[in-house]
Amino acid sequence: MKTFEELGVSPEIRRAIEEMGYENPMPVQEEVIPYLLGENNDVVALAQTGTGKTAAFGIPAIQMVDPNLDRRMAQILLLCPTRELAVQACEELKKLAHHTRGVHVCAVYGGAPIERQIVQLKDANIVVGTPGRVMDHLRRRTLKISELRMVILDEADEMLSMGFREDIETILTQAPENRQTILFSATMPKEIMNLIDNYQKDPVWWRSTSLRLL
Ligand code: AMP
Repeated sequence: MKTFEELGVSPEIRRAIEEMGYENPMPVQEEVIPYLLGENNDVVALAQTGTGKTAAFGIPAIQMVDPNLDRRMAQILLLCPTRELAVQACEELKKLAHHTRGVHVCAVYGGAPIERQIVQLKDANIVVGTPGRVMDHLRRRTLKISELRMVILDEADEMLSMGFREDIETILTQAPENRQTILFSATMPKEIMNLIDNYQKDPVWWRSTSLRLL
């Protein structure tokens, strides 16, 4: 088993990980982190809650943020099916980014006043959100995704069963072509395979034992 240092995780994030009490990487983290850090790669992971998936995509996402870019431009977009999951992922990313300079995370979701989110979006380079509210901010131009470097779909199957397919496709179409796209899902129905075929570039697959080429 490798250490977080051997996976290429930055000293700032390792300090945060230590404070969070994580000792060793979980399997999905061991496989996915070096792959996402190393190259401009797309990943599909069949992973359920409890596998450590949030840190598996969250650590590379935080490490990829360029603190010198315009703070108002989102660099990373993480889409989650529900408000609860968005809040939870946002909290974990904030903890992981605690010692990393220039990384600002915010969450946008429905059922909460939009004004506060508009203020927070002005200073966030990592945005976590539910697809409906993200679309709302895109329409209002309070979220700009023209500089995105990474889009992560978390619990993609859940998002599709909640009726977010159209929103997700609109967001992926508007995001820059050369972004990285990462998809995590507990199941792989046909609709997910369609998303992978249409919006990811030669993704590598992770399914509980190893990364495999598609
Ligand atoms: P997730 O699959 O992202 O929902 O994570 C499941 C739980 O595992 C969360 O409570 C994380 O805080 C925790 N966790 C993530 N990575 C590690 C790790 N390397 N060691 C111990 N706990 C972890």
